[in-house]
Amino acid sequence: MPTHGRYTTYVNQKCRCKPCVKANTVWCENRRKERIRLVEAGLLTIPHGTDGGYRNYACRCADCKRAHADMRLATLRRRRARALQQASSA
Ligand SMILES: [Zn+2]
Ligand SMILES: [Zn+2]
Repeated sequence: MPTHGRYTTYVNQKCRCKPCVKANTVWCENRRKERIRLVEAGLLTIPHGTDGGYRNYACRCADCKRAHADMRLATLRRRRARALQQASSA
């Protein structure tokens, strides 16, 4: 029996119940804050020009914004291609 309301349950058991989703959200948020703190302390450099820089480090420089936009477009395209595939095979 998995323990609900835990990040590990969300990741390892792929449980998507409310407490687990919330635990995951909190965990991600804490990780993000920790990263930003390290960047501010000069211990970590933001990987500019990456989707991670935009999302994980909350960087909004032109390079990160572009990378994030590209990533979103790629995800959308993939999703659309999959939907089309499913529609044609059904
Ligand atoms: Zn759960
Ligand atoms: Zn950046």
